[in-house]
Amino acid sequence: MLKLMTPGPTRVRENVRLARSMETTNPDLDLTFYDFYKDTCELISQVLNTKNPTYILSGEGILGLEAACASLTEPGDRVLVIDNGVFGHGFADFVRIYGGEPVLYTTDYQEEIDAAALQRYLEEDHAFKYATLVHCDTPSGRLNPIREICPLLKQYGILTVVDAVASMFGEVIQADAWNMDVICGGSQKALSAPIGLTFVTVSDDARRTMHDRKTPVASFYANLLNFETYYEDKWFPYTMPVSDIYGLHFALRNVIEDSGIYQRHKENADYVRKTLRDAGYQIYGNSGYSNTVTAIIVPEGMTAEEILTSVAEESGIMLAGSFDTFAGKLIRIGHMGEQSNALDVKLTVEALLKVLSKSK
Ligand SMILES: *Cc1c(COP(=O)(O)O)cnc(C)c1O
Repeated sequence: MLKLMTPGPTRVRENVRLARSMETTNPDLDLTFYDFYKDTCELISQVLNTKNPTYILSGEGILGLEAACASLTEPGDRVLVIDNGVFGHGFADFVRIYGGEPVLYTTDYQEEIDAAALQRYLEEDHAFKYATLVHCDTPSGRLNPIREICPLLKQYGILTVVDAVASMFGEVIQADAWNMDVICGGSQKALSAPIGLTFVTVSDDARRTMHDRKTPVASFYANLLNFETYYEDKWFPYTMPVSDIYGLHFALRNVIEDSGIYQRHKENADYVRKTLRDAGYQIYGNSGYSNTVTAIIVPEGMTAEEILTSVAEESGIMLAGSFDTFAGKLIRIGHMGEQSNALDVKLTVEALLKVLSKSK
């Protein structure tokens, strides 16, 4: 099997894989499971530095984004869609599906969002129910300064929905200090848990807004309000995937016990970018580099496909290309979660450089 160095799904540590083979229970009837689920949700809130509750939903990261939009959007709502990447832009679809009016704030995909420029925009127009933004936009490796953007939006009374699927557990998140309302995460990125779960954190302001709706949420599966009283009522809106949640719990413990996790992500990311640049290759973007993923511009004379195939065949390492507007143009290394370790990162960069050097 190839060694995974993709920006999700990522490699899963043995204790997480073993946790998934533990004997299962009936999660609806076994009252101890409600405590286990709650404890697991609280571990996520702990990592995000928030007092707000988190809910784990059965489904991939995309479900988390959709659930946030489904639960907040009412027909006719204006929603500010902050767009400097593929996922940033993609939020407009979810807003539209639930009857909202997405207003795109689109900036150069090579730059992080500039909070001062956004503020000038908001001075002219801030009649938005909520705003969507992406912490790390994975297809291009862009990282946005959410610590500046979320408090700014809050000043204008705009709720925030932050897609932190590809940053969470690799980049520090101070949800309460940064006034973040709804935060979406996923199991298969920097958490290094298997594919299949998403989690959504909901602030008091966001919860109140959901309760104040005049129209019902146009979804059952994606309605976050259905999770609100699971613990008191001992009732889940649908049967919880017990084994997935066992795995998630152990993956969260791995993260929490790993005191050097953010520093390591930073060092490995810096190493990848410096080594590739020193060798004469270009990293995509001019500002806002994520510590979880790096996107390298495919050099002239080679195709992304050739590079990926050669790295796999010669070194047994799986890298990723990119998609949407970046398809064929970028190669990506996922130095996140279990893959953010000095040895694998070094072997990966060496393997990539060996292949790239043939184009020179
Ligand atoms: C991976 C990812 C998602 C979720 O995508 P899935 O295909 O559901 O895993 C959402 N947003 C970002 C930024 C991601 O990297």
